[in-house]
Amino acid sequence: MTHLSSKQAKQYEHINEQQLAELMAQAASVRDAAWGKTMTYSRKVFIPLTNYCRDECKYCTFVKRPGDVNANIMTPAQVLSVAKQGQVLGCKEALFSLGEKPELRYREVRQALKALGYNSMVDYLVAMCDLVVAQTTLIPHVNAGNLTAAEFSQLKAVSGSMGLMLESVSDELHNKGAAHFACPDKIPALRLETIKQAGLQHIPFTTGILIGIGETWADRVDSLVAINQLQQKQGHIQEVIVQNFCAKPDTEMANHPEPSITDMLKTLAVARLILDPAISLQAPPNLQQNHADYIAAGINDWGGISPLTQDFINPDNAWPQINNLAKSCQQQGFTLQERLTVYPKYFSKKSEQLSDVSQQFVRSRLIAMARIDGLAQQQVVQCDHNESINEKINKSLNEKINEKIVEVS
Ligand code: SF4
Repeated sequence: MTHLSSKQAKQYEHINEQQLAELMAQAASVRDAAWGKTMTYSRKVFIPLTNYCRDECKYCTFVKRPGDVNANIMTPAQVLSVAKQGQVLGCKEALFSLGEKPELRYREVRQALKALGYNSMVDYLVAMCDLVVAQTTLIPHVNAGNLTAAEFSQLKAVSGSMGLMLESVSDELHNKGAAHFACPDKIPALRLETIKQAGLQHIPFTTGILIGIGETWADRVDSLVAINQLQQKQGHIQEVIVQNFCAKPDTEMANHPEPSITDMLKTLAVARLILDPAISLQAPPNLQQNHADYIAAGINDWGGISPLTQDFINPDNAWPQINNLAKSCQQQGFTLQERLTVYPKYFSKKSEQLSDVSQQFVRSRLIAMARIDGLAQQQVVQCDHNESINEKINKSLNEKINEKIVEVS
């Protein structure tokens, strides 16, 4: 059941301080009823398999073109090295993130893939997820842009969950000079179709909106409504991210205004009240100094945080220390807990998600890594690069996980 219609939400475009406070209180109460007083995060490593991409989003600093010294496709050895280091630091998730189908645009990428022994970036991605699953205890979460039904089928056997930011349903963003001009993969209908395909294959899925890139308030509401409609039909949307645009130097949107904290709070509260309350609502803590305020607007999750790798999409925005995040949560009556890549209800026996035979190995691994409430059995509360993590605990837990995997497979 949702608590706000599209029409009602659109009336919140201009609200005063008191109306915002009331909206946030309502959102917080819906969150409390659905998620209690637990805030979660996922301890992960970020694996930017390639920063080549065929699109040209005006706010992106991640993408690199052939000829750029920083343009890169990670080798299998590099992928494995990051994943193994992450495992030692207590990470449970390997977030594979990459540009959209660069081989369709660049000969250099086709040649590089051929040299690695693959015809497409997705084929290579499948092999790298498989490598991580086979040689570490991490579970891949895949953000590979738009995917076909056949590509989803390949990837779901080697990952726990996947994601694609809808960003916005606004077609206007494709006009000349707008944020998504010359971005064939950002067409809203295409992205909605991708999310739908994931649902048809029962894949636990993450999506979200990017706010402040030139969309209207009505576009934001329509985007959230569109996501919720997919959830109502297919039930596979495990989390929705509300991400604030950050202006970066050396991009065409360097001088574009960033959304204010008030705008973020209003959008988060409206998102919580439009979406099915069972969907986890997440906002990145590293993109807003006053991120602790998000709690009062109805979020229940901080997303992925890494003790090892930077946020490659927003490299200037360092992850918060987990201990500090835990304190912020505690000050507002919440306990910070570590979750797994996949939310508990999606790997329970009753769930349709991860029910495919090809997904049984990953599902078994999730069950082995989870405690009774489905959150991570091994909770790592510290996230300082200089702190030594108790490797003995990790080693013994990893051994237990491996034993259980052998038992169930
Ligand atoms: S934001 Fe994503 S799709 Fe857009 S250019 Fe950057 S990597 Fe490509």
